[in-house]
Amino acid sequence: MFPRVQWPDGKEFAFTIFDDPDFDTVENSTIVYSFLEQLGLRTTKAVWPICGNGRPKFGGVTCEDKEYLRLVTDLQKKGFEIALHNVTYHTSCRQDTARGMDKFYELFGHHPYSMANHSGCDESIYWGNSRLSGAQRILYNLLHFGRGSMHHHGHIETSPLFWGDLCRDRVKYVRNFTYGEINTLQKCPYMPYNDPDRPYVNNWFAASEGRDIRSFQALLSESNQDKLLREGGACIMYTHLASGFVEKGNLNPEFKRLLRRLSLLNGWFVPVTELLDYLVAQKGLCTISRGQRGALERSWLWHKVVHTRGRS
Ligand SMILES: [Zn+2]
Repeated sequence: MFPRVQWPDGKEFAFTIFDDPDFDTVENSTIVYSFLEQLGLRTTKAVWPICGNGRPKFGGVTCEDKEYLRLVTDLQKKGFEIALHNVTYHTSCRQDTARGMDKFYELFGHHPYSMANHSGCDESIYWGNSRLSGAQRILYNLLHFGRGSMHHHGHIETSPLFWGDLCRDRVKYVRNFTYGEINTLQKCPYMPYNDPDRPYVNNWFAASEGRDIRSFQALLSESNQDKLLREGGACIMYTHLASGFVEKGNLNPEFKRLLRRLSLLNGWFVPVTELLDYLVAQKGLCTISRGQRGALERSWLWHKVVHTRGRS
């Protein structure tokens, strides 16, 4: 349906990572990012700009930690993209979300170009069962994947958690569906796309499911790397680089081997926003139809049922 993308500078495929800050520590992040930098990869690191004051479902260090802030601003200077993962690791009211987004601007000199919702934040936007439509939503409700709250309020104007207008005015790209397929673009050829039924998000993108060391390595197998190259595709790997990648101060050796192998292929290794901007320049922005969206939803639900047992 969509012609093969011509990548810049004679590159044959594109690869990047969107790394959520869950479980981040200064030590882990320093080790992982020195390695990515060494390989010449420039990826996207999502952060929490402000510290929470309650119990998180999944927590981690925030930009209020001086050492961590130094690390991420340094990454930004080196060409990594800094993105948003809600403003902190637990639910925030509108006022706190606005404060966190202002803080992001103050720290990084721009509004977040890209963001992903954090599990356990009820202000997440079009999240939980609002990710889905029609029959898919009914099925999701029955299976109740979230196990916690299915209802998220970021896009509901009457809620004290509403921040849809801030998202629309400040954030360019938001992550939605993830798939167990290395070529994200093959699973979601529309991306980045806008969805008329979800107007507070400007553009959506999909990702490949590499949430922890196990799934990341499985997806980055040698045969999958070769597939990505052969298909001339694009992979946006969604992950938590603090989930098992570093043990006792050492990076997992198999992860190192696989990523080094990938970095030696003729790929284009740029942050998520640069990759998405390029896709827009090549093929224009797509407005997704309900039929196309339904197919993405069904494919995502199937992936969750079979592979991830409900983890987002
Ligand atoms: Zn998260």
